Amino acid sequence: MSIQNNLNQILDRIAKAAQSLGRKPEDILLLLATKTQPIERIQEAIDLGFGLIGENRAQEVTDKFPHIQRSDKAVMPYQQHFIGHLQTNKVRAIFPYVQCIQSMDRASLAEKLHAECEKHNETREIFVQVNVSKEESKQGLATDQFFPFLETLQELPMLKIRGLMTIGLNADDEKSVREGYAHLRALNEQAITQGLMPNTATELSMGMSHDLEWAIAEGATMIRVGSAIFGERK
Ligand SMILES: *Cc1c(COP(=O)(O)O)cnc(C)c1O
Repeated sequence: MSIQNNLNQILDRIAKAAQSLGRKPEDILLLLATKTQPIERIQEAIDLGFGLIGENRAQEVTDKFPHIQRSDKAVMPYQQHFIGHLQTNKVRAIFPYVQCIQSMDRASLAEKLHAECEKHNETREIFVQVNVSKEESKQGLATDQFFPFLETLQELPMLKIRGLMTIGLNADDEKSVREGYAHLRALNEQAITQGLMPNTATELSMGMSHDLEWAIAEGATMIRVGSAIFGERK
């Protein structure tokens, strides 16, 4: 299947999932997870209008993002995100190439990013990553560290919080996976109610190739899709 066919299939899945819930498909952003993909394949998707992309590793950001060309077509807003675990000492290298860091999960990283913002006099967008699946291997804040971390962010005004991000439970059991996504949404609502997040920070980045319907059912506003568009990774 071509990238174009795969993209059409994903748009179709988003539309069906949204419509069955009375949600508008255009309220759900599609971010392409481009890890391990060569520049040419990423560019192919961008030329079709899918310029909302995310990488997992600093090395891939600095290798690829400087070479990517914008396209006039814009099915999705054109933006480059970081979505993987980010070492503090890599912040400086990726800073020029990313507008948003979705994997914000600790004070040392937030402080480092904020210092870089001050140096350049530029803001950056963030999502706070929470580990709602409670799998040991997963990145993101434990839920009991979530509210204290938001207090830290209040001291860092150049980081603009868009919402929350999570990597879902890797399982076929719909109920357990959806519970995690529902939990993320509840944390977001609580944080806004308590004034710990701006009331505009309502975005939820959750759902991937295999479970985007379940994430959309629990309120996802951005799904991150890799293999269903580019094929299985080696
Ligand atoms: C790879 C990746 C995705 C996409 O996963 P697929 O199963 O390939 O769709 C989404 N989010 C993150 C953080 C990823 O690393």
